[in-house]
Amino acid sequence: MKPAIVWFRRDLRLSDNPALNRAIESNRPIFPVYVVDELDTNSAARWWLHHSLTTLRENLESLGGGLTVMKGDPSSQLAALADRIDAEVIYCSHRYEAEGEAQLRALRKALPEQVRLNAAHGSLLNEPGTVVTGSGSVFKVFTPFYKAATREPVSEPETQVPTHFHAEANDAAIDVLNELLPAINWADGFSVDWTPGETAARERLDQAVKKSADYGELRDRPDLEGTSRLSPHMHFGEISIRDVWHRLSTISAAEPLTRQLYWRDFSYHLLAKNPEMGWKPLRSEFDNFPWVDDDVLLKAWQRGQTGYPIVDAGMRQLWRTGWMHNRVRMIVASFLVKHLLVPWQRGADWFLDTLLDADLANNSAGWQWVAGCGTDATPYFRIFNPITQGKKFDVTGDYVRKFVPELAQVPTKFIHDPWNAGTDLLAASSIRLGEDYPYPIVDHKEARQRALDAYQLSRDLLKSGAEQPR
Ligand code: FAD
Repeated sequence: MKPAIVWFRRDLRLSDNPALNRAIESNRPIFPVYVVDELDTNSAARWWLHHSLTTLRENLESLGGGLTVMKGDPSSQLAALADRIDAEVIYCSHRYEAEGEAQLRALRKALPEQVRLNAAHGSLLNEPGTVVTGSGSVFKVFTPFYKAATREPVSEPETQVPTHFHAEANDAAIDVLNELLPAINWADGFSVDWTPGETAARERLDQAVKKSADYGELRDRPDLEGTSRLSPHMHFGEISIRDVWHRLSTISAAEPLTRQLYWRDFSYHLLAKNPEMGWKPLRSEFDNFPWVDDDVLLKAWQRGQTGYPIVDAGMRQLWRTGWMHNRVRMIVASFLVKHLLVPWQRGADWFLDTLLDADLANNSAGWQWVAGCGTDATPYFRIFNPITQGKKFDVTGDYVRKFVPELAQVPTKFIHDPWNAGTDLLAASSIRLGEDYPYPIVDHKEARQRALDAYQLSRDLLKSGAEQPR
């Protein structure tokens, strides 16, 4: 039988992988391949991808196969490969970014008629377009989406083991893999917290299932490991969403965690409907928002030097570990767009470049939610106070102490507003504000008023009737 190519995309796993399963069922010798392409540009995520592909290759080798890693435009690379090995079919999974779907269309065009392209769905609980309102449109608000989506059954995971590979299927291209690693040693610390790959993803899931009953209570505490930390594994498809759902479905107290899986689906449904969501506000009243595109402010935020400890701790956690707690993502994002008035797209770009879980759908939805311009967003005029947010969610100050060590000796009472501690207490805490740690880059009250004024101005500029979500 002529071989089948399995083109891995955001499904870097062997278990419950519909594309791989269809190839196994075809009984053809399998040729597994990954193409590093123009969608693989986010720096931290490339570190993850390098390790995830290395692990996938080892797993395939242990079964007698391998993984070929190529670089370039997937349609021309795969069409040439199909021609070279005389493949009759290419199996792969859908990605839902516009560019990912465009790749499939280009590949279909590039392949000769006798080579079939078979794209499976396997990374969401419900595919875009399958959960719609009574009138057939995409949900704009999460709660009704959730109600409708949870009425749909989630099919059982299905794992088949490949045993029959094409003879040449182990042409690894180590240099392409190595090019994924950042040139500077910024990513060295990632491996302290993270192990990419399918086995590690399963271990994370086991831990998350064990702790899932406490998730609802602990999920907003950045100083504790109260969330699953599955996000990079899920982004790269190292674990099947159906697996996660079914493991959690037996535990009724796990509903708050299961609900997050539907937020992920919701983001993808929105992205499929609004391919420009990564840069264009979903609400038109933000088209004329008077942003202040200030590089100095942006840099202070990126480097965790804003003078607001909870914001700086979050930004430094991101830089050091490639991940940030969800509550803190909301706080730092709000600070950038409301206290500093920097366009949300600048923050979203920084997140995409530095997050290991950088995900166009979730990231764009998260930023639009915080900025107030998403379809189901927090109202713009609700402005997080970074001091009270810190006091409420990092109660002991341990999160700040971990990531902003200059403040380690500041008493808990003042850890979120050290400028109120007074000179003597600061001296006793070995900290000189303005030297060891900055004074607040903006005054909270003034910044809040400026944000509200900017919002009012953008509303005044809006022509009547354009205020509804698109
Ligand atoms: P858990 O709380 O354990 O949740 C389990 C899984 O559910 C996550 O792994 C994730 O896949 C999904 N999930 C959880 N919260 C959300 C959410 N609000 N929206 C969509 N899916 C969710 N998530 C990303 O995966 N990639 C991003 O690039 C990203 N950027 C964000 C940017 C901003 C400004 C905000 C506010 C949120 C962003 N999120 C992003 C969503 C969320 O912060 C992360 O998914 C979560 O913090 C990951 O940690 P966890 O795996 O421990 O999550």
